[in-house]
Amino acid sequence: MSSIASSLRTGTLVDGFGRVHTDFRISVTDRCNLRCTYCMPLEVEFKPREQLLTYEEIARVAFVMSGLGIRTIRLTGGEPLVRSGIEGLVRQLVAIPNIESVALTTNGLLLAEQAESLFRAGLARLNVSLDSLREDRFVQIARGKGLDRVLAGLTAAKAAGFQSIRINAVSIRGLTEDEIVPLALFCRREGFHLRFIEFMPLDADGAWSSEQVLAGYAVRELLERQIGPLVPAVRSDTGQPAVDYCWADGAGSVGFIDPVTAPFCGQCDRLRLTADGQVRNCLFSTTEWDARQLLRSGGSDEMLVDLVQECVRGKRAAHGIGEPDFIRPDRAMYQIGG
Ligand code: SAM
Ligand code: SF4
Repeated sequence: MSSIASSLRTGTLVDGFGRVHTDFRISVTDRCNLRCTYCMPLEVEFKPREQLLTYEEIARVAFVMSGLGIRTIRLTGGEPLVRSGIEGLVRQLVAIPNIESVALTTNGLLLAEQAESLFRAGLARLNVSLDSLREDRFVQIARGKGLDRVLAGLTAAKAAGFQSIRINAVSIRGLTEDEIVPLALFCRREGFHLRFIEFMPLDADGAWSSEQVLAGYAVRELLERQIGPLVPAVRSDTGQPAVDYCWADGAGSVGFIDPVTAPFCGQCDRLRLTADGQVRNCLFSTTEWDARQLLRSGGSDEMLVDLVQECVRGKRAAHGIGEPDFIRPDRAMYQIGG
């Protein structure tokens, strides 16, 4: 990691619409041990390893970003736990001045083995993706086995000491309706915060259509009808895209991330780094800024600051899903980092 250079500019990352960026999503790999239909193709060619940023390169970018107002980091992928030594990266990121929390999103398959070392490394929070509690449906969606391993991972994460574990479930019309109530009952019982995410046009197969979007409000209505009333939760973090509700009977909370039916672009505070070192200002951006090339050609931290500032200046007001001029990015979710 670079040392604190007194000449390195500090400041904030404010785009042309006044949005201040404080959250950084870092993808550590495009590889994965599942092939979820809404994310990856079945047959996939991964980036050659030498094109992925090393942990030292990632930490250097994160360090520069911390000087520009980034306060929270989330590691993602692909599946971050398939990259070896990830707890070492967590340790490096946690040690960066001004970084307040490092979190991670995982499919949970390798969590049972790694939960304790991640917790000890200082990982603050875990999001575990789980769309179904039925083995057959899990395999249908993820195109791989592993429900028992995810459940074992969740048990291990609790035992390791992780608090407020979140479960992410993608909602797809005609596919996941039956999963909604069982997942909610499971999370109420186990004390997990469940979040339903609307299906976005980022599947590698290009099969997304607006008819497949199961809207967050429809999921909420179903939950209220079948389980009980939900009341809006008091928001502590306005940068969070989820709209949270509490169960009126006190049995925890459930959130909705509705990028399609209720876009939250106006509050977006996120920037992204792909595993191959491209800085992005939006999941749906069609432009990327090449930090890897800069890092590997002797570029200075100052130059990295300029690259990131240019990326932020290039951010559009909104993703534009549903607009006539919407263009899907040519990279799918697993290549960008969810
Ligand atoms: N492999 C890890 C996992 O599955 O949690 C981390 C990466 S994954 C790309 C991050 C999140 O993106 C997961 O919760 C996944 O369900 C979600 N996701 C992937 N493709 C999506 C899509 N097309 N629409 C909405 N969410 C999606
Ligand atoms: Fe892998 Fe996560 Fe994409 Fe599923 S959503 S294929 S687990 S990266």
